[in-house]
Amino acid sequence: MDYINYTKNFICQIINQDLQKNKYKIICTRFPPEPNGYLHIGHLKSICLNFFIAKFYKGKCNLRFDDTNPSKEHAKYVQAIQKDLKWLGFTWYSNITYSSDYFHQIYQYAIELIKKELAYVDELNIKDIREYRGTLLTNGIDSPYRYRSVKENLTLFENMRLGKFPEGSMSLRAKIDMNSNAIIMRDPVLYRIKYIKHYKTKNEWCIYPTYDFAHCIADAIEGITHSLCTLEFQDNRMLYNWILNNISIKNYPKQYEFAKLNIEHSVLSKRKINILLKNNIIQSWNDPRLFTISGLRKRGYTASSLKNFCYGIGVTKQNNLIEQTFLESYIKNELNQRAYRIMAILYPLKLIIINFPKNITEIIIKAPNHPNNSNMGYRYIFFTKEIYIDNTDFIEHISDNTNKKLTIGQEVRLRYAFVIKAVNIIKDIQGNIICVHCLYDPNTLGVKINKNRNVKGIVHWVSKIYSVKSDFYLYNELLINKNNENIKDILSVINKKSLLICKGFIEKNILQLCNITKHFQFERIGYFYLDKIFNNPKKIIFNRITKLKKK
Ligand code: ATP
Ligand code: MG
Repeated sequence: MDYINYTKNFICQIINQDLQKNKYKIICTRFPPEPNGYLHIGHLKSICLNFFIAKFYKGKCNLRFDDTNPSKEHAKYVQAIQKDLKWLGFTWYSNITYSSDYFHQIYQYAIELIKKELAYVDELNIKDIREYRGTLLTNGIDSPYRYRSVKENLTLFENMRLGKFPEGSMSLRAKIDMNSNAIIMRDPVLYRIKYIKHYKTKNEWCIYPTYDFAHCIADAIEGITHSLCTLEFQDNRMLYNWILNNISIKNYPKQYEFAKLNIEHSVLSKRKINILLKNNIIQSWNDPRLFTISGLRKRGYTASSLKNFCYGIGVTKQNNLIEQTFLESYIKNELNQRAYRIMAILYPLKLIIINFPKNITEIIIKAPNHPNNSNMGYRYIFFTKEIYIDNTDFIEHISDNTNKKLTIGQEVRLRYAFVIKAVNIIKDIQGNIICVHCLYDPNTLGVKINKNRNVKGIVHWVSKIYSVKSDFYLYNELLINKNNENIKDILSVINKKSLLICKGFIEKNILQLCNITKHFQFERIGYFYLDKIFNNPKKIIFNRITKLKKK
C-alpha cells in the first residue's frame, strides 16, 4: 500500500504544522469505541486514522472503551471489539483504558464546576429540559433551579450520588448560556441518575457522566493531543473546549472532525443493526451481509483489503457515500493475485457423454491452479461419463446465433477439456429437463480449434463422481435504497433477495486445497470463502465474497 496520498489528509497537515511549531513532543491519539455493539467498517476508518497517525509520527494511540452509558453496554462487546482489532492487526499503546476508570476524577471535576457556580442540580425532567432549551429560532428559558446556592448544589449532587433521588428526577447541568446560538451550549446535562448496574463498575455509581462531559476529561487525563471524531460532533467541540477551559486540568487536547464513512445500500449504525436483529432480518452481528468487521471476515474479506480500502478513501470533511464495488475492488485485486482457481457448479445440469469410452471410468486432465502463476502448481481434474455444467450455460432453443451456450447441435468447449455437442434433451413427464445427452470430440483436448468450426464459448464443469456437494451462500445488498441515512423505517427498505442459497457441486480437489487456503476463485463465477466443512456426508459451505463481473 502506498501511504503517501493518505498522509496528505487535512489532519496530518494540522499535525505537521503543530510539530513545526513545537506544540507537542509526542502525538497521542485514541480510538474510543462505546462497547454497545460490534465494530463496523465505519469504525475502521477512524481506527486506521488514529493508529496510522500514532505509527507515522512515532506517537501512541490508546484504545479506550467509552463506557458512560450502562444501559446499552456490555462486557461481551468489549471482548468482541478487541478480537476484531487483533484480527485487523492493530496494537494499542500500553493497557486498554476505560472512561469508567476516571469516574472518580470526573466526579471531582463536576464538584469543581459547582463550586465555580458553573454547574447546578436541576429538577426539570428530560422533556421539560428539552422544551426550556428552545430552538434555533427561539431563545432558551432558564430553569427555575438555575440559581441555587453552591452549598445547596453540592448537597443535592452528593445526595444524587448516594441514590437518594429517583431516576429522571434530577440532573447536573452546566451553567453556560440559555441564549447561545449553539443549542448544545444551553446548559447541557453533565450527569444523570441511572439505577443500572454498570458492566465494569457494577453498583458503585448511580449517577453517570454524559458523553460530552466524560470524553474531553478522559482525553485530557490520557494526554491525547489530537482528539479525532466525526462531523456530527462539530457543535460539541464548543462544549469540549468550555469544559476543559473551566476545570483545573493540565492537558488541553484539541478536537478535530472528519466525515463519516457511509456505504451504499448498507446499514452501519449500531442502533439500526439492532433493529434488524430484533426483527430477525439477520441473526447475528457477523451476518456476512453486514459491514461489521466480523461480518466481512465471515464473508471472506481479509484484514489487509479492509485497511487498504480505508487508506484508499482517505480522510476529508466532505460527507460522501461510497459504492460497494469500490470496497470489492480491494479484495478482488488481492485475491486475483493469490486465490486458487477451481470449478464449481451453482445451478447443476447433468450432461451424459454418450460416446464416453466403455473401458475406462475417467480421463485425467492437468489444470493450472492459477492462470498467471505457475508457482501455485496444478491439479488433476477428471472427465467422466456424467458431468455437471451450470444450467445457465445451456439453452433449449437458440434465440440468435450470438449466444455462447450449449444447445442441440451447437458445440462448446469444456474448460481445460474437450469440445462437446448436445444431441438430445431428456425430460420427465412434467417437461422438466433431467439431463442432456452429449457427444465429446476426443481429438480436441488441448488443441486449438479452427475458427470456422464455430465452437461457442468455454463453459466450466465438474465430474459427477469426482465432486463434492456444496452449498453456496450468495450475498447481495441488504437494503434496496442507496442512501439510508435518513430512512426512518429501516425495515421498509430490506432487499428480500439479499441472501440466496444454491445447492451444487465443486471439484473434489477442494478437499486438498482447503488445507492450504480458504479463499478461492470459482472460475467464471466469483471469489468465495470457505465457511464450513461437514464430514458425514461430505458437504462444504461457501460464502460468496464478490462476483467476478459487476452484473
Ligand atoms: P454508530 O453510529 O454506528 O452506532 P458510534 O459513533 O455511536 O457509531 P462509537 O463506538 O461511539 O460508535 O464510535 C467510536 C469511534 O468511531 C468514534 O470516534 C466515531 O466517531 C467513529 N465512527 C463511528 N462511525 C463511524 C463512521 N461511519 N465513519 C467513521 N468513523 C466512525
Ligand atoms: Mg455512540
